[in-house]
Amino acid sequence: MEERRGKPHAIMISFPYQGHITPFTNLAIKLASSGFVITFVHTEFVHHMLSQSNHNDSSTRVDFFSDARKSGLDMRYTTISDGFPMEYDRLLNLEEFWESLLRDFPVRVDELVGNIIQSDPSSVHFLIADTFYLWPARVAKKYNLVNVSFWTETSLVFSIAYHLELLKENDHFPPKENSEDSINYIPGVQSISTKDLMSYCAAAIDTTTPEYRIVFGAFEEVKNADFILHNTVHELESETLLALDQKQPTYAIGPINFYDSTKTTAVADSLFLKSDCTEWLNSKPPGSVLYVSFGSMVQTNKQTIEEIARGLLISEVNFIWIVRADIVSSTDTDVLPTEFKNDIKDKGLIIPWCNQNEVLSNPAVGGFITHCGWNSILESIWFGVPMICYPVTYDQPTNRKLVVDDWKIGINLCDGISVTRVEVADKIKSLMSGETSYGLRQEIKKMRKILQDALKIDGSSERYFDQFLKDLKAKIL
Ligand code: UDP
Repeated sequence: MEERRGKPHAIMISFPYQGHITPFTNLAIKLASSGFVITFVHTEFVHHMLSQSNHNDSSTRVDFFSDARKSGLDMRYTTISDGFPMEYDRLLNLEEFWESLLRDFPVRVDELVGNIIQSDPSSVHFLIADTFYLWPARVAKKYNLVNVSFWTETSLVFSIAYHLELLKENDHFPPKENSEDSINYIPGVQSISTKDLMSYCAAAIDTTTPEYRIVFGAFEEVKNADFILHNTVHELESETLLALDQKQPTYAIGPINFYDSTKTTAVADSLFLKSDCTEWLNSKPPGSVLYVSFGSMVQTNKQTIEEIARGLLISEVNFIWIVRADIVSSTDTDVLPTEFKNDIKDKGLIIPWCNQNEVLSNPAVGGFITHCGWNSILESIWFGVPMICYPVTYDQPTNRKLVVDDWKIGINLCDGISVTRVEVADKIKSLMSGETSYGLRQEIKKMRKILQDALKIDGSSERYFDQFLKDLKAKIL
């Protein structure tokens, strides 16, 4: 790279989903606090959702980083079209939406990056893009940028997808139907069963779908990155990370969402309108409430919802259940059994979205039924709340393996194929009290300390972050 002078200026582009936007936003603040100029890019649709949920208003142009700027950080903000009108249903039309992300979005990104650079030519520029994008190497090369890839999930998932060729050579991609073969040849990855692979490595996957092309295209693309950041903690996945670092410079800098403990640089990062549950939670005894959420995207079916609802009632536990309007894939909006809503009385709160960290940090919360999204797992560990795992798709089955089999901080929701109310109730009881519960709580305390230590001044994530900054500097000088 030729010698350049001026301020380090990073252009950051997240994948347009909640589980990516939050870590990207926190990384942006962390970098800005370290002296970087940041230009943060949201899609127009994400901007619209953030405006509605955080300001109840999308008519005026909101700049989500204005507070950060008041705190002295040089954070700029711009938007880019994802090619569809606001009312277009991006979940219902996922294939078409992703196809367009593959085909049309890169052209718009190229133009936007060109404009940003033109408006600030004296800066040294970096591109920090989500690992799921397929265009960063091309754009970085065209504009002579350092290409940083940010992976917001586990290093285990990264490593499996990164070594797809090895899976193919060993006849494990696609795996045979119902196989439970052990995969024990991926560098730095302990033996893992084919049943614990990500959904996009599952049997009979159609390799022409946009999902497949995005995921595996991304893992070819990332081989061109100059640096790769992972939102995990070295001590949790050290062997996997060290093996990956042999291939490309890799830095574990998580859990990035908990860096900004001072909250002086708050930014809006929730796509959905939140309900406040603090008063309700404060009225419940410590450790008595179960929190149930399947994250921002997962869809399930009405039958599973019904079994969980009945299981909650049988267990007699207090609960907060996040039931998004699109939690089932049909257009049926009334997904909960009618008697259930009458029967819960003050035992349960059903809401479409909450501030999850506020809920998990409340002493009344004693357990979490989660779909095993990586942010949710990190947040649960951070607040020491053990989990019941109900993985549905993408990386979630692989994350479940870490939580239940390796770290022993959670249990499975169902051991059979389908969810039944009796099993749900039994698992809830085991999670909330008794011997299993005690064991899980002991283990999660240890994990919590690992996460919190990682963010201390001499902790591993701080050290990797500093090392990343040094290596970045060396690359541009
Ligand atoms: N979340 C939230 N309120 C809710 C449900 C989820 O704030 O009611 C947040 C949660 O804290 C997490 C993110 O949404 O940071 C979901 O990310 P995750 O990786 O767990 O799952 P995804 O939505 O990507 O499947």
